[in-house]
Formats: sequence, C-alpha cells, structure tokens
Amino acid sequence: MESDGYNRGPMPSDSSPPEIRSVLVVGAGTMGRGIAALCASRGYETSIHDPVPAAVASAPAAVAALLEKARARGKMTDAELRAALGRLRPVASVEEAARAADLVVEAAPESLDVKRAIFSELDRTAPDAVLATNTSSLSIAKIAGSTRRPGRVIGIHFFNPPLAMPLVEIVVGPETTPETIVAARAFVASLGKESIEVRDSPGFATSRLGVALGLEAIRMVEEGVASPADIDRAMEAGYGHAMGPLKTSDLVGLDVRLAIADALARELSEERFRAPALLREMVAEGKTGKKAGEGFYRWEGNEARPRTVAGAGSGNGSARRRRGSSD
Ligand code: NAD
Repeated sequence: MESDGYNRGPMPSDSSPPEIRSVLVVGAGTMGRGIAALCASRGYETSIHDPVPAAVASAPAAVAALLEKARARGKMTDAELRAALGRLRPVASVEEAARAADLVVEAAPESLDVKRAIFSELDRTAPDAVLATNTSSLSIAKIAGSTRRPGRVIGIHFFNPPLAMPLVEIVVGPETTPETIVAARAFVASLGKESIEVRDSPGFATSRLGVALGLEAIRMVEEGVASPADIDRAMEAGYGHAMGPLKTSDLVGLDVRLAIADALARELSEERFRAPALLREMVAEGKTGKKAGEGFYRWEGNEARPRTVAGAGSGNGSARRRRGSSD
C-alpha cells in the first residue's frame, strides 16, 4: 500500500537521548513569541527568528510583555523576569543560531510547503539539533520527509498562550526514534508542562476535537441558532469548558483554524471538516479574531465584547436578529 505519510507502524531506534540546553524558535508570531518566553523563563538560552525584520525587532518587547503578565500573576519574580530576558536573543539570520541549537521549535504559518522548506534548510544549518514543529494539524512524516534525519523530527504542539496552558501534545512520526521522544518528553517536563503522546494522524488529538466543535459552533451562528456569546455559554456553563468554542477560535486565530479545517477536510473527511462559508468570509475580510481586534467578538486587549455576526450562508440575516450581539 502506498504510504499516506501518517504513522501506522513501529518506530526504529537510535542512540542516547540528546541533551537540550539551547533552543531556537523559528517564527515570531503569536506562538513563537509565547514559546520563546516560556523557554527563556525556564532557563534555556533562547534565540528567536522570523523572516520579517519587524517581527524580529519587536520580539523582545513582545516577550517582555508576556513575561510581565506572568510576573503580575505571581508566576515569576522581577529577578526571574530579567534573567529570562537576558537569555533571549532575536536573530535576523537563522544560520548562526541554528548551528548552536540543541532543539529547534518551528512556529511558522500552518502550510506544509512553508514548513518543508524550513525543515529542509534546518537539516543543513542545524545538523545536531532535534527538529520540532508546533504544527496543529500537518503530518509530521511529511514535514520530516524534507530532511535526511526523520528520526530526529517530532511534533511539540503548544497551546495558546504557551506560558499559561498546562498541556503540550507530543506527536510521534513514523520514523521518530524513541530517543527523540524521550528528549521531547524531558524538555516538556522541564517547562513545567504535562504532555500527552499522540500518533502522527491528522489533527492529532486536540486540533481534531477542538476544530470539530468550533466548526459546528460556526455553523450554528450561520443558521442563527443562537448568538456567539450564548453558544459559548452553552459549553462553558452547560459542559464545564473553561472557554467556549467561538472565543477559543478567536484566540487561536480564524485564519489558523481555517487552515487546519482545510487540512482535516483533505486528510480525514471532506464532509465532517468542511469549513463553513462564514469562516471563509470572516478570514477574507481580515476578521481573524483577537489578533485583528475582531472575530466572533470585538477584542479590546484581553476583553472580548459581543458583536453582531451576520448569518452568512443563511442569506436571511437571522443571526443578526438574535439577542446577545450588542453593536
Ligand atoms: P502567526 O501567523 O501568528 O505567526 C507566524 C509567524 O511566522 C509570522 O511572524 C511570520 O512572519 C512567520 N513566518 C512566515 N514565513 C516564515 C518562514 N518561512 N520561516 C519562519 N517564519 C515564518 O501564526 P501562529 O498562530 O503563531 O501559528 C504558528 C504555528 O503554530 C502554526 O503551525 C499553527 O498551526 C500553530 N499553532 C497555533 C496556535 C494558535 O493558537 N495560534 C496554537 C497551537 C499551534
């Protein structure tokens, strides 16, 4: 049978687990900055790179703001914050930092082509490092296939915001060696996080379940079943979820969620993961959630305020007439 790139077989072995002291984060967006803040706060020499110069330049201030929040919540002292910032190095050129890295965590956009290009370059520039991807849904095997050492490639999937969320999903590719898994688990534990281990399969455990719930909630908005705020309350107050599926989608980024839904539709089931028209429209209009200031809510900093979301696809504006949307 031709391989579809997903792991269904046993894993081969290599030697002893690599020791991790220095980390390079590739991609300085929402996740990259959070991952860099977490690594630096836990004692790792941390470099952060992005091909967009402005993203590199603004990374230290953004990481400082994340750490300051943690300090304000009593999670770290002033001295620890300063020490963490001292361990952070923004790098315009990836080559030098890659050579020195024991672990690279890639947090670039959710595109297989982009990630394969990055891993192919890292294969050359970071010859001794474990290469990890923060992908939410893409095949580890397909990403690892762009390198000559798929045994040292693994998924280390953080949640947003990485400093605060307790879980990290470790995604094991078909050729990931046991030693790479041991190193990844030890690294995640050293960050003070709980890990689960998941076989390389579309959407892993968390994205597959989270996106399924999120897409259904968006279809309910389209159909005018209830307002976004009421749909979220249904899961928060009714099912004990810490955050409803629409607010979660806003936090993740609707563009990121759409990319994951499209990947799951291709890989798993066109019918179950077909993205609702409303999601595509909102992304096309730049209403990508918290980072854009507008998604299913209007965002002022961390505050989410209800807003009107027209029931796209229904064509009758039914959601517009529902209560709970204030503008
Ligand atoms: P983002 O759009 O906020 O950031 C992506 C960054 O990558 C940008 O700064 C961009 O300039 C940079 N970039 C673009 N091309 C690049 C390249 N060739 N090499 C390196 N960097 C490049 O995206 P994000 O939300 O931080 O997501 C990054 C990854 O993390 C995606 O794979 C996503 O699926 C995953 N993820 C996201 C979340 C979330 O809640 N946003 C949660 C878990 C995992």
